[in-house]
Amino acid sequence: MIIEPKIRGFICTTAHPEGCAANVRQQLAYVEQQDKLKPIKNVLIIGCSTGYGLASRIVAAQACDAATLGVMFEKPASGKRTASAGWYNTAAFEEIANTKNLYAKTINGDAFSDEVKASTIESIKQDMPTGIDLIIYSLASPRRTDPVDGVTYNSTLKTIAGNYTEQTVDIMTGKVTPVSISPATEEEIANTVKVMGGEDWQRWIETLNTAGVLAENIQTIAYTYIGPEITYPIYRHGTIGKAKQHLEKTAEKLQQFLKPLNGKAMISVNKAVVTQASSAIPVVPLYAALLYKIMKENNTHEDCIEQIYRLFKDYVCHEAPLPLDENGFIRLDDLELAPTVQEKITQLWPAVTSDNINSLTDLLGYQQDFYRLFGFALEGVDYHAETEPDVPIRSL
Ligand code: NAD
Repeated sequence: MIIEPKIRGFICTTAHPEGCAANVRQQLAYVEQQDKLKPIKNVLIIGCSTGYGLASRIVAAQACDAATLGVMFEKPASGKRTASAGWYNTAAFEEIANTKNLYAKTINGDAFSDEVKASTIESIKQDMPTGIDLIIYSLASPRRTDPVDGVTYNSTLKTIAGNYTEQTVDIMTGKVTPVSISPATEEEIANTVKVMGGEDWQRWIETLNTAGVLAENIQTIAYTYIGPEITYPIYRHGTIGKAKQHLEKTAEKLQQFLKPLNGKAMISVNKAVVTQASSAIPVVPLYAALLYKIMKENNTHEDCIEQIYRLFKDYVCHEAPLPLDENGFIRLDDLELAPTVQEKITQLWPAVTSDNINSLTDLLGYQQDFYRLFGFALEGVDYHAETEPDVPIRSL
C-alpha cells in the first residue's frame, strides 16, 4: 500500500516502515562517526522503541558493543493499519544489530505489569548469564495499571497552582492561541505520580534484584525534564513535574538499595526534543520551536541521539568523579538552559503570533521532526512506492 501520514491532533495514526528504518540508520550513522566507548556487556532499555529510549539502545549497541534487551508497548500492522513507529524502529534496529553480530531481543508488552517483568527476567537468565550491567528507564505513558491493586491510573497534564493561561501553538497549522488550563485535583496529581513517578522504576529494580539478574556495579538511569520558567506552570510545577520529582526521589532510594552491588541509580535531565510524548504537552511545543531556532543558530542544537551519546561518553562510560549538579543529577539540558539561550526566548516569547511564527521560531523544523517520528519526511525514501506494512521483528 501507499502509506501517507494521517495526523489527528498531536498524533499520527500511520507510520512508514522504510522511513522509520531510515531514521534508525541516520541515528546509527551519527554514532558510527563518534569514538567507540568503553564496552558494556548487557543493557536493558525499558521504553526502547522511540525517542530517548531508542537513542539509548542505538548508542549502547553501536558505541559500547552491548547486547540489548528492550521493552516496549507497540502495535504490529493489522489489515490496512500500519504498525506503530516504534514497531518499525525496532524491526530496523534488530536487523542492523544482527548484521553487526550484536544480540538484540525485544519484549512487547506492558512494562508496568509483573508478567512483562517476569518475561524479562526469563530472557536475562537464558541469554545474559552474567546479568544486566545497565538499565535505562525511559517510559512515557498516559496510563498505568498498578499490579498491586489492579487499578488503572491515568496521568493528566495540568497545572497545580490556580488557573493558568498561556499561548500555545497548533503544531500543524502554526496557529498561536491562548490556552487556559484549570488546576488539577489532588486525585489527578496523585494519579499522575502513580503513572510517571518512580514506583514502577523501583519495582523493576527490586524485582530484577530478587531474581538475581543484576550484575555487580549495575547502573540504572531514569530520564527527567526540568525546562525553563516559561513552562514551569504546566511542566515543572504541574502534575507531570510532581511525578518527575517522585522519580528523582526514587533515585535516592535506589542508590541506597543498590549499594550491596556497588551499583548506582542516577537521574539524567534531558533537553526538550520532539517525541510522541512531548508533543502532547500544551505550551511546550511553542517553547521547543523557539528553542530550536535559537539553538540551531548557535550551533548547539541536539536531538535524542546527540544527547544520549553525550550521556554515555561523559557519564555512563566515564570514571568518577562525574560532573553532577547540586542534586546529584546529570545535566544534559545544560545547553538548553544556557542563560543566553533562555534570555532570548524570554524576550521573543510575548512577540510570537500566528503571523510571525515561521520567522521567529523554527516551527518548520519542529514539524519536520514530528513527521520524522513516524517515518515521514526522510530523505531517500520513496513515499509514492508500494510499501509492505507488515514488517516482522526478528526476535518476536
Ligand atoms: P516516547 O514517547 O518517544 O517513548 C516512550 C517509550 O515508552 C516507547 O518506547 C514506548 O513503547 C514505551 N512505552 C510506553 N508505555 C509503555 C508500557 N506501558 N509498556 C512498555 N513500554 C511502554 O517518549 P520520550 O519523549 O523519549 O520520553 C522518554 C523519557 O524521557 C520520559 O521519562 C520523558 O519524560 C523523558 N524526557 C523527555 C524529553 C522530551 O523532550 N521528549 C525531555 C526530557 C526527558
